[in-house]
Amino acid sequence: MSNFRFKALEIAQSRQAMPVAAPTERVGDFFGSYTFNNEVMRALLSPEAYLKVTEAISTNGQIDRGIADEVASAMKSWATSKGATHYTHWFQPLTGETAEKHDAFFDITLDGKAVEKFKGSALVQQEPDASSFPNGGLRNTFEARGYTGWDPSSPAFLMDNGAGGKTLCIPSVFISYTGEALDYKTPLLKALNALDKAATAVCQYFDRNITKVIPTLGPEQEYFVVDRALFYARPDLVLAGRTVFGHAPARGQQLEDHYFGSIPPRVNAFMVDFEFESMKLGMPVRTRHNEVAPGQFEVAPTFEEVNLAVDHNALLMDLMEKISEKHNLKVLFHEKPFAGVNGSGKHNNWSMGTNTGVNLLAPSTKPKESLRFLTFLVNVVKAVHDNADLLRATIASAGNEHRLGANEAPPAIVSVFLGESLTMALNDLETKSEVTVNKGDNVYYKLGLNRIPSLMRDNTDRNRTSPFAFTGNKFEFRAVGSSANSASTMTVLNAIVADQLNRFKTDLDARLAKGEKKELAIVDILKEYYANSKRILFEGNGYSDEWVEEAARRGLSNIKSSPDALGIFVKPESLALFERTGVMNHAEVESRYEIELEKYIKNVQIESRVMGDLAMNHVVSTALKYQNKLAETARNLVELGMTAEAEPIKDILREISTRVLVIKKGVEAMIESRKKANNVTDTGERAKLYATEVKDHFELIRYEVDKLEEVVDDEDWPLVKYRELLFVK
Ligand code: ADP
Ligand code: MG
Repeated sequence: MSNFRFKALEIAQSRQAMPVAAPTERVGDFFGSYTFNNEVMRALLSPEAYLKVTEAISTNGQIDRGIADEVASAMKSWATSKGATHYTHWFQPLTGETAEKHDAFFDITLDGKAVEKFKGSALVQQEPDASSFPNGGLRNTFEARGYTGWDPSSPAFLMDNGAGGKTLCIPSVFISYTGEALDYKTPLLKALNALDKAATAVCQYFDRNITKVIPTLGPEQEYFVVDRALFYARPDLVLAGRTVFGHAPARGQQLEDHYFGSIPPRVNAFMVDFEFESMKLGMPVRTRHNEVAPGQFEVAPTFEEVNLAVDHNALLMDLMEKISEKHNLKVLFHEKPFAGVNGSGKHNNWSMGTNTGVNLLAPSTKPKESLRFLTFLVNVVKAVHDNADLLRATIASAGNEHRLGANEAPPAIVSVFLGESLTMALNDLETKSEVTVNKGDNVYYKLGLNRIPSLMRDNTDRNRTSPFAFTGNKFEFRAVGSSANSASTMTVLNAIVADQLNRFKTDLDARLAKGEKKELAIVDILKEYYANSKRILFEGNGYSDEWVEEAARRGLSNIKSSPDALGIFVKPESLALFERTGVMNHAEVESRYEIELEKYIKNVQIESRVMGDLAMNHVVSTALKYQNKLAETARNLVELGMTAEAEPIKDILREISTRVLVIKKGVEAMIESRKKANNVTDTGERAKLYATEVKDHFELIRYEVDKLEEVVDDEDWPLVKYRELLFVK
């Protein structure tokens, strides 16, 4: 078996960077060339159809059959002219992967004629075999049919099919025949719509020209890269996405030299390759750098409208997986593939833009705009404060559980960082006594709103330990897991902010009806909101033990276990919020809860099985063989009369025996815990057992295995070691 490790190492070490043909054209010449974008539509559609489609995109409206036929025909000729032979509705089921079902554009009739198969109806709707996707009880399998429906707000694109041809991918929603959402996109679109409505209504108090608010997202994606041969020599990476064993290398990230180091040539070639392909797909991929841990990197696109950004992130991850294989590498999106070095996140940078080109979370130099800025800022803070647990629920997963609350990532406590000057400005506002405004007074001046911009200008402080940080003109939600689909978090964030903005409007309208002056009424409400939610603000070190205690004193939640966090989804307040905002009905939320629990259980179950198998078949068996070698050596020494010299060897023998025994007992007990959990029918209870009784064995077994790794002869050790996985490039 150890041969396998050394063979893999030999292969990995002999590899060269794959040459990548750098694009010869300018970026502008190929950017988006694989997308059925606005420009293409304008060129290929009749003016009437073009207008209808763009209108439907901006108003989330319907597209009638006649127009759909025209669009389908244009899409088909565009796609076939670029080499596409098939089309598919591309969607995001709740498994967490993306899904496709390929159909040919043409059928051949019996007499050998090609007939067109791609009409408007096929563009608008397709029936995948839905029985293989999770539905959380929404549909019985005997009527396992849902359908996918075109989402015109995300442009169709071309993907290489791996065999020289291309497939036209049509971004779609996935819904059951009874109308319930079976995917990530459907509730997201509803939440974005709710936010648009609520935020536009609030903008109207400040600027009548604002008729649309577009939430924006720029997800920074962290990932690890390992050699492909080494990856396949680690069954735990293959099956569970993370290493369940592995002794920390002598040199980890303590030197912090990786961050500023140069990117290894093979990884660089991979990056150049996927960035080029991303650009063709219209994805504005931008930065390229090393992360803190060895073998860890980050890619960040320029922000886009949220729905598009979510699609693009899912597509980017698909693309990276495919292209990494081409470079004999493997990209790892797991939140914690290696113990002892940093995990990976997906920082969700989020803001709101208007049709007039204003970023609602950007401080302004104009006092009037400062009030608008503060209005949105404080409402976001209050929304996060009031719904912190629900936000926490959106980032709960088996993978992220290894990261949240560990000493190297945002803790499971949701807090908000605003920075010193902004906090000061808000404190000023809060303590400002009743302001009286006389005729001729400048109300903004009296409120102190003329000072905000100067306070903000030098606000460059950054807090990297805050899970939800204001970073100058946007919020950055950092606790999202690297493998997650951002839609879940974005659905909730936009829904809770929409809900809060609706409440603000109600509060303000009530005061205006009583004849209060608008600006004063707004400030009054913001003062009250601020006072009620400022306990969520935290500027200090979010990774410290003191913060955990302080947060408890403040009454903030610290939900460590995923099943507990997921339970928040189905609390009456959460169900009411989703219903109020029109994002999801009760059945939809409950099915999602079921699906997330099932995913959690399956993931922990797989980890646990891999751990048991590797411990017994790889580690214990290797340790026993090594013991044999040692025993023989000791015996030889004793025979030669070197009894004293045999003693240290006997010590090692004893140590190995003890550890093997602990491992064996641990694995047996873990199997018993799994059996017990599997006999529980309630999904929530079963998930809790996996989170506690099953997982409780992990650390102990791992500890002993990693100790054995230190003792057993390197020649015999069967599993590729951390130093090899992380440093061989
Ligand atoms: P840094 O956080 O280091 O200052 P950037 O300012 O470039 O880096 O932003 C990081 C990410 O935030 C990028 O993906 C960027 O596109 C995104 N971002 C910037 N402005 C906004 C915005 N208004 N809305 C959403 N995301 C944004
Ligand atoms: Mg960041």
